[in-house]
Amino acid sequence: MTDAVPYLDPSRPVDDRIADLLGRMTLEEKVGQMLQLDAREDLDDHILRMHAGSILHASPARVLRARDLTLQTRLQIPLLVGEDCIHGHAFWEGGTVFPTQLGMAATWDAALIERVARATAAEVSATGIHWTFSPVLCIARDLRWGRIDETFGEDPYLIGELASAMVRGYQGGGLDDPDAILATAKHFAGYSETQGGRDASEADISRRKLRSWFLPPFERVAREGCRTFMLGYQTTDGVPITVNDWLLNDVLRGEWGYTGTLITDWDNVGRMVWEQKVQPDYAHAAAAAVKAGNDMVMTTPGFFRGALLAIERGLMNEGDLDRAVSRILKLKFEFGLFENPRLPDAERIARVIGSPGHTDLNLETARRSLVLLRNDGILPFDTAVPRRVAVVGPLADDAQTQLGDWAGSSGQVDWLPEGQPRELITTVLDGLRARVPATWEVEFARGADILTLEQDPEGEVFPDGQPRPQIVVPAEPDPALIAEAVAVAEAADYVVAVVGDRVELVGEGRSTATLELLGGQQALLEALAATGTPLIVVLLASKPLVLPPAVTDAAALVWAANPGMHGGRAIAELLLGEIEPSGRLPISFARHVGQQPTYYNQVRGQHGTRYADLTQSPAHAFGEGLSYTTIEYSRLRLADGDVGETDVVRARVTLRNTGSRPAREVVQAYVRDCVTSVSWADKELKAFVAVEIEPGAEVTVELAVPVAECTIVDAAGNRIVEPGEFELLVGASSRDEALLVARFTVSAAEARLPA
Ligand code: BGC
Repeated sequence: MTDAVPYLDPSRPVDDRIADLLGRMTLEEKVGQMLQLDAREDLDDHILRMHAGSILHASPARVLRARDLTLQTRLQIPLLVGEDCIHGHAFWEGGTVFPTQLGMAATWDAALIERVARATAAEVSATGIHWTFSPVLCIARDLRWGRIDETFGEDPYLIGELASAMVRGYQGGGLDDPDAILATAKHFAGYSETQGGRDASEADISRRKLRSWFLPPFERVAREGCRTFMLGYQTTDGVPITVNDWLLNDVLRGEWGYTGTLITDWDNVGRMVWEQKVQPDYAHAAAAAVKAGNDMVMTTPGFFRGALLAIERGLMNEGDLDRAVSRILKLKFEFGLFENPRLPDAERIARVIGSPGHTDLNLETARRSLVLLRNDGILPFDTAVPRRVAVVGPLADDAQTQLGDWAGSSGQVDWLPEGQPRELITTVLDGLRARVPATWEVEFARGADILTLEQDPEGEVFPDGQPRPQIVVPAEPDPALIAEAVAVAEAADYVVAVVGDRVELVGEGRSTATLELLGGQQALLEALAATGTPLIVVLLASKPLVLPPAVTDAAALVWAANPGMHGGRAIAELLLGEIEPSGRLPISFARHVGQQPTYYNQVRGQHGTRYADLTQSPAHAFGEGLSYTTIEYSRLRLADGDVGETDVVRARVTLRNTGSRPAREVVQAYVRDCVTSVSWADKELKAFVAVEIEPGAEVTVELAVPVAECTIVDAAGNRIVEPGEFELLVGASSRDEALLVARFTVSAAEARLPA
């Protein structure tokens, strides 16, 4: 081929190049271009016979092999290589594994998350991967859902802020940037509105409810230029998301003007046939998916024959295919892949993977992700006197579990069976051993096991051949392990118990019926509490768990989510007072699994706030998190309590550090619309500002909430501001007790016109 071939000529407009290339492609090549196939399978078949346009889960060696195969094809259309690099380049040996997305959300720091995504993009792009399936914009609703750890928590505003930052970080200065990777907003939309927390259940959700809370973060990143969107697995009102014409065409591409690429989730097209049973065969499923506006079809090899048959039978026509293929080619041209296929680059790999700068950023993120939920004053430890610390628990020294799902050996890829190199991970035990004063002693006892696995009686694989997760069997408490831990605790001045969940309880198809600490952990904690040695619980849990009295009565409690490679060091630093706790909950903790859902922004109008046998109030509410000092809020005042619809509500609040340690305080501003034409959330987060305050210091914090953000979605589904009375609530968490209140009135635009 020579440069005279128009589609290979970068000086030509992209539309001309697309038209030229489309004109040369056979029907088979067009159908194949729409396929994203699993690189762990028969790559030769995928690329040479099925003409796949994209691959995922490609080991480093397979990325290169795929390129060789592409060069053997007639048109040599470059592949898009995708991977789930959702908290760092976590499936690359030695890649930087950051805290999980939920852990990152606890930082409430968009700028930090943008830097994390930038660092991830630098690592990922160096290795020949072009596209990360991140961020997740699902709202956490039922805590039993297995994918809570992948979310930014339960608040649409916080999700929007953090997701937008992450997309900016991945995509960098634009697609010309050699460090840029494509971001994916997923899972579009409503997948997290589960029934009973079950994965991929029917999402019973109205259009108005979608518009109210589920869609706004997606709309934001669509308008901000997120290049790809991925579907979820849910059906809504009987319609699988894959063929939800209203969401995909009317809303996403229509109202929001999205021009990016749309990819299904894993085998969504096949699932309509074999799982949801709403299409009779692959020809009908393929036609329906293409007509609904999907561009790329993830891991449905049967789409190849199905789509060809659909055209043969007149279920769709070539023009339908051309629309999808054009959008894929547009992405490839704009990304410059025809000129530079962005192959692995040994020099950059050596320079950026796990670089010192990324390691520092990872430690900073881990520190900031820790949420102190309880402290009777025992923390930080007094390091002036010699002490003995008992470090106890099944997760105190479990390096791979600390990384969480979608990392190393968590199960989605097969080339890191042992996980990430042990020496790159600092567990809590490692961290404490390394950082305690020389006069201190650290003793370790595992104390309990969490679970064993059994084969699912329904078989090792699902009907589509995908592995079926094994069944979790909670471990019995082991008296010998407990006795050993108790002996270590009795001889110590402090017990640091590291408990939580394991990756077998996390992820797709791994929702949990309960939220309890499983296996021998509860018995262990009870035995430790009975020793009388002050108990500090470090909860290494992918999502909020229901905590037993031994934890709620403990001297201190720190939630660490899955804090990444340097989590153990960050936790040790926190306990020893080398850093200040500053994380805030992006999600509420329930007292009992039966309280689901516990998210703070529920619709008002329920009868009371209790169950007959339990309060409905969560154990720890959205926004909560302690410092090693106390911050007093006072004097919330508004610049103007009478505003119009285009104004900004400006407020000031005074904060005073009344303790003896510095703090990083996250000042949260919620809005309550006092009377609404339809039922609405009692309050919603609209702004937050972080400030550093030295002991004894007083600072004034300014907050601004545009009135245009004080919206509801009315009965007709329109997002509007309803003039009238509002409250601005400012404070340290979403709990009413933690918030100061100032009233403001919004007047209708016409009421404010000069006479
Ligand atoms: C998940 C997606 C993921 C994809 C590729 C799916 O099962 O739902 O979030 O990006 O697999 O691994």
